[in-house]
Amino acid sequence: MSAESPDDVDADEESKRATTSSPYTVQREEGEEHHVFWADAVADRVEEREPDEPIVIKGGISPSGVPHLGNVNEIMRGYFVAEVLRERGHEVRQVFTADDRDPLRKLPRTLCDLEGNLVDLGEVNAGALGRNLGSPYTDIPDPFECCDSYGDHFSNIIQNSADAVDVPIELVSTTELYESGRLEDVTRFVLEHRDRAREVLAEYQNKVDEDYVPFNPICEECGKVTETVTAVDVEAGTVDYRCTDMEAGDQTITGCGHEGTATLREGKMPWRFEWPAQWQVLGVDFEPFGKDHAEGSWPSGQDVARNVLEIEPPVPMVYEWFTLDGEPFSSSEGNVILVSDVLELLEPEVLRYFFAKDPSKARDFSVERLDLLVDEFDRFEAIYFGEVEASEDEQAFAERVYPLVVEDPQEDRIRLPYTFAAVLGMTDDPDLREEIARREGHVSEDDPEWAIEDALARVERARNWARRTENEFDYELKRSEIPDHEFDEATEAALADLATFVEEGHGPEEIQGEIYEAARRHDVPVGEFFSAGYRLFFDESQGPKLGPFLSNVDREFVVDRLRRER
Ligand SMILES: [Zn+2]
Ligand SMILES: [Zn+2]
Repeated sequence: MSAESPDDVDADEESKRATTSSPYTVQREEGEEHHVFWADAVADRVEEREPDEPIVIKGGISPSGVPHLGNVNEIMRGYFVAEVLRERGHEVRQVFTADDRDPLRKLPRTLCDLEGNLVDLGEVNAGALGRNLGSPYTDIPDPFECCDSYGDHFSNIIQNSADAVDVPIELVSTTELYESGRLEDVTRFVLEHRDRAREVLAEYQNKVDEDYVPFNPICEECGKVTETVTAVDVEAGTVDYRCTDMEAGDQTITGCGHEGTATLREGKMPWRFEWPAQWQVLGVDFEPFGKDHAEGSWPSGQDVARNVLEIEPPVPMVYEWFTLDGEPFSSSEGNVILVSDVLELLEPEVLRYFFAKDPSKARDFSVERLDLLVDEFDRFEAIYFGEVEASEDEQAFAERVYPLVVEDPQEDRIRLPYTFAAVLGMTDDPDLREEIARREGHVSEDDPEWAIEDALARVERARNWARRTENEFDYELKRSEIPDHEFDEATEAALADLATFVEEGHGPEEIQGEIYEAARRHDVPVGEFFSAGYRLFFDESQGPKLGPFLSNVDREFVVDRLRRER
């Protein structure tokens, strides 16, 4: 489940947790078979339930804010378990609920258009949002005016994200579950047993008193989700309500005072009941969720499932959240990245690999050091094909997981090292890029055309990475002709020394050291000497750390350019 849950977490849950079964299922228990891939361990637990076919795996999200990379975590986690179960011969459905009957509780600061661009609230038709605080997402007009509602707009982005990482999900609208009547029986059942429902939930939430009714009708007058039910008629399947104020965080959403009657399709259950009700009507066998739910709605959810609905809750799995460049994801703080952004920087299989790693460990998705992740993936892939030395554990992991990450393994594929690709990205000429890649031995005569094309596609991604992070590769190499320059004799002599040094073949740090030495030997101020280098290669007065840069570019060109021959 997503980070945003409509209900508050109560402090008295701490004591309760000890008596409920743990959702931290990835950790292996004594006597269990050892698996190198966590999804195999989870699949064992799902099979232990002896589930009916098709097995149902669920995830879900409340459509507030921006659907970002963190939300795809849940989709990918479910996917790997689904794939493992499919391998074992099961039929599996992966459903993902958009919990879009939830009311909009506060205005998001940032939204996202269908192309994946972040947009400030001020730039869209936000008036409709403000007027609709308290209304279900599916009843609120799309601020971008491209979809049926705000809820639908959000669902479309989720669907696009899943498509982009090639995960087939069945997106289910919770509003649709209510309106079609699929949730009607279980809603009636909960209302019929509302004393028991109240008793169970009261152990988790302080606000539950004897007037509590586990149903929130939608006011027919103002469209808001209301909390004050005055009478329940289970037989007729209706509730009477009064439209009162709703507390939403630190603000109050004003009710219109209307008194009316609603059917069980014209409202929603509170999240603490809605989630278990979804398990029942969708037949959910497994659901991964973030650690907020592990301490919040999971303990009450499994209790409600067993002791109110009388069903067995799904196999749970808590996944750790990850950070983005060391900070929590926050669309309001601008610390957010969308799947569409990520896929401009790396191949989908690299992202799939990121989510194949142990979900019980917190990790960072570092855009700054994306090269490390891509290098790690390249190594993982090379291990699978037996091209590099690796430990037994690494080998076992690659053998098991690689075919789930890359659907159609091709031994002929070529990967340009990411930072090398970033260096190639400093030049715009595609032929030149290929020529350098050949000269540097990354591409050879008998490589198939498709593999060369795929490999060079990484150059564009690494180029985007350089632009986005403004890192040391974010420069345009003036390759085709030598920029205008004017150096004194001392500088020319120092450049000649440097050319000879580079020609001899040295590593990045040695070249960096020689830049200082050569300047000193010829009495050229070091800063000026660096500027001379940047002038020659970029036609600028500053640039990346020069030693590593020069060692990354093809040597022949570097030497010629330092000698100002081309
Ligand atoms: Zn839209
Ligand atoms: Zn109202």
